Amino acid sequence: MSINIALAGNPNCGKTTLFNALTGSRQRVGNWPGVTVEKKEGVLKGQADVLIRDLPGIYSLSPYSLEEVVSRNYLVNEHPEAILNIVDGTNIERNLYLTTQLLELGIPVVAAINMMDLVKANGDVIDCKKLSKELGCPVTEISALKKDGIDEAIKLAIQAAGGKEQQKVFDSYSKYVRDALSEIERIIKGKVDDREILWYAVKLFERDLRIREMVDLSEKDKKKIEESIERVEKELDDDSESIITSQRYEAIGKIVADCVKKKPVKEKLTVSDKIDKIVTNRVLALPIFIVIMFGVYSIAMGSWPFSIGTMGTDWANDVLFGEWVPNGVDAFLTSLHVDPVLGSLIQDGIVAGVGATLGFVPQMLVLFFLLALLEDCGYMARVAFIMDRIFRRFGLSGKSFIPLLVATGCGVPGIMSSRTIEQDRDRKMTIMTTGFIPCGAKMPIIALFAGAVFGGGSLVATSAFMIGIAAVIITGIILKKFKAFAGEPAPFVIELPPYHVPGLGNVLRTTWERGWSFIKRAGTLILASSIVLWFLQSFGFVNGGFGMVDDNNYSLLADLGRALAWIFYPLGWVGDMAWKATVATFTGLIAKEEVVNTFGILYNAGEVAEDGMEIWGLVAADFSVVAAYSFMIFQLLCAPCFAAMGAIKREMNNTKWTLFAIGYMTAFAYVIALIVYQLGGLLLGIVHFNVFTIVALVLLGALIYLLCRKGYEPDREAIIGVELNGAK
Ligand code: GDP
Ligand code: MG
Repeated sequence: MSINIALAGNPNCGKTTLFNALTGSRQRVGNWPGVTVEKKEGVLKGQADVLIRDLPGIYSLSPYSLEEVVSRNYLVNEHPEAILNIVDGTNIERNLYLTTQLLELGIPVVAAINMMDLVKANGDVIDCKKLSKELGCPVTEISALKKDGIDEAIKLAIQAAGGKEQQKVFDSYSKYVRDALSEIERIIKGKVDDREILWYAVKLFERDLRIREMVDLSEKDKKKIEESIERVEKELDDDSESIITSQRYEAIGKIVADCVKKKPVKEKLTVSDKIDKIVTNRVLALPIFIVIMFGVYSIAMGSWPFSIGTMGTDWANDVLFGEWVPNGVDAFLTSLHVDPVLGSLIQDGIVAGVGATLGFVPQMLVLFFLLALLEDCGYMARVAFIMDRIFRRFGLSGKSFIPLLVATGCGVPGIMSSRTIEQDRDRKMTIMTTGFIPCGAKMPIIALFAGAVFGGGSLVATSAFMIGIAAVIITGIILKKFKAFAGEPAPFVIELPPYHVPGLGNVLRTTWERGWSFIKRAGTLILASSIVLWFLQSFGFVNGGFGMVDDNNYSLLADLGRALAWIFYPLGWVGDMAWKATVATFTGLIAKEEVVNTFGILYNAGEVAEDGMEIWGLVAADFSVVAAYSFMIFQLLCAPCFAAMGAIKREMNNTKWTLFAIGYMTAFAYVIALIVYQLGGLLLGIVHFNVFTIVALVLLGALIYLLCRKGYEPDREAIIGVELNGAK
């Protein structure tokens, strides 16, 4: 029989650090069933029968966030043998708030007071013996970072797990509340697990709807419970939830006064405070951040001489996947006398497609590494804090900034870095908007049209960026008015941990976790789509028969383009360019670089430079100015490439939401491109008034309405209900 031990604690209390130290490399990372909250489990080093689970960081066991619901469902339903509660010793009062709730669950709790190195450095003293006596559970001191005392802590947890006796329940309540709780306990006795009876009584007293549904109560019971709650509320003149909260804090206040001796604080700024005075300064914060991120980007994705990442990617593209692998595969195929069709599938389909994706891995790893460094030393917490002031205005939280920023390089890591956003609906919205930011692969599209049609106007290129950012803002405003996204962005309770030297192990582990999931996708989604596209591009009907075609104009893909070109008629993709633009749109789903590449092939120029210089003349002849602009907008905003779609799927962890996100982006792109072509064209005298002019006007009106209408006003319970339903 294995022993399950859950690590529980506030965000940033050091859970993950402890988890990594206890499990070493023997851990699994995934999602909690149905939701994207990170799930980590692992086996204790040297003791295979002890299973450790890192619960999401939470401040309480109320149902105010997905993390809280996930954690408490796990604790109540799975009933692990023991809870190792990590308490941040430098913030002991706030951390004990969760501890007192955990103690009501009837699961043995061991409290590990973490960050003792900092506590001691501050000159504070925590009397663990006394604390243990008052809380009624074992208490021990640790430093997860320095690996001090962690063996003792886990030993205590294992002992507690095997303990026959139930731990004494810590009771925070005054006599009045106590009486009401006892009455509720009498009513629900036999209907819930005996060990958890106090927990249920407290939650029913707080009128927690979700818990009320879990207990089988008759109407009469419900009435009796409501009466005893109201009696207390009347007597203490407060609502029941606040009563519980304030009594808990009162009890904790007493304990802390007894057990913690704080060194009187001298008004002296720590080094961290001094750094923060500059780094989070109202004026300097943003420029400093821009400089740091510029540095990160230069190293990860900048131009060659300074950038380790680009050096790696160039090597991977030009040498590894440009020569070694294709040549190796070629030699191998030749030696086996493989059929040319199969050979083409392997070379032009699989090696080319998968190789193109894997080529990004070096840049990706360098970027992830640098971001993990910034995260671990404490700087990212400051960035979220700085950006929150700005982002809150259009419904995103400060934490959405990082994904958007990363997405200027590549949407895939951008979407993946939305992981750091705790609130479910903020995370979803961030995932949906990240793809609007013009990524590196969309640059060639911009370059092509700016060069071919607009005479190299740098204004056009800049406007492409502005359109991406405007799309993010417009989406934020529109979606916030719908029920599923309504509500303030998560309250910003982030605390700024002191700066410290990042742990190399932690950083490397994070880098690898994120990098690996990118690599895995190349083996699945990209592989499959490369094969399909290769088939469509290589086969077709010629001379009355079906077979491989040399001329791309006759491939299945070209047929498909001609058959589907009508879809884009309202966007002004008409005439000879219509089917080519349609085909390019579809190949763009593989990777956005493919758009320009496809034009190169379809305009018969063979291999083209990044910005498609060779075909500028032909493109300019085919595209009117507005049609070119409508095409560019559509490519910038529509469904992202397969790799990014895969990332969306993984981060949403839900098919419906994935489809919604991709559908929304595509519809949004279509609407904007249509409005721009029809109305812009009319103004410039290129397009005549037609039925789609009216459609464009109606769509524009609808867009303005969605932006300006008064949205749904949520109450707290409703928001969480939607979150959970969405998560199913
Ligand atoms: P989680 O959010 O609870 O998983 O917390 P993490 O394990 O990510 O830790 C938050 C931060 O606190 C990290 O930067 C850790 O390096 C740091 N940290 C964790 N434990 C200790 C400790 O014992 N002492 C000090 N000084 N820092 C710690
Ligand atoms: Mg963690």
